[in-house]
Amino acid sequence: MPVENSDSPASAPGRNLRIATRSRADNWKKPPRRIEISECITCDTCLRSCPEEFGAIFDRGLDVVIIPELCSGCPSCVLECPVDCIYVDEDWKPTDDAMWNHIELTAEGAA
Ligand code: SF4
Ligand code: SF4
Repeated sequence: MPVENSDSPASAPGRNLRIATRSRADNWKKPPRRIEISECITCDTCLRSCPEEFGAIFDRGLDVVIIPELCSGCPSCVLECPVDCIYVDEDWKPTDDAMWNHIELTAEGAA
């Protein structure tokens, strides 16, 4: 008998699903990360180091921000940041609609 439910989308939701539902994956054990704006030198190194499957870092105005719903806490960006200003964010707040609208546009553009 073939196994019919081996690729259950609920067990491995992709980035597009996280963007569509504006929610974090349930199976991520690590908390997301956040960038401390007052310490960040906006070099964009973290933005380039975030794995494509997550794509959690964006420029927002003059700041560089991590979208907690897209951040698995992996933590590639932490290892690359030259000033060590990326911290665990246990108390993360949901991303606002304006930012989600921007993210949706970039996701469609990249598809
Ligand atoms: S912890 Fe990983 S997923 Fe989160 S922003 Fe950094 S590189 Fe991206
Ligand atoms: S790598 Fe560090 S200093 Fe550079 S933009 Fe990211 S958080 Fe800011």
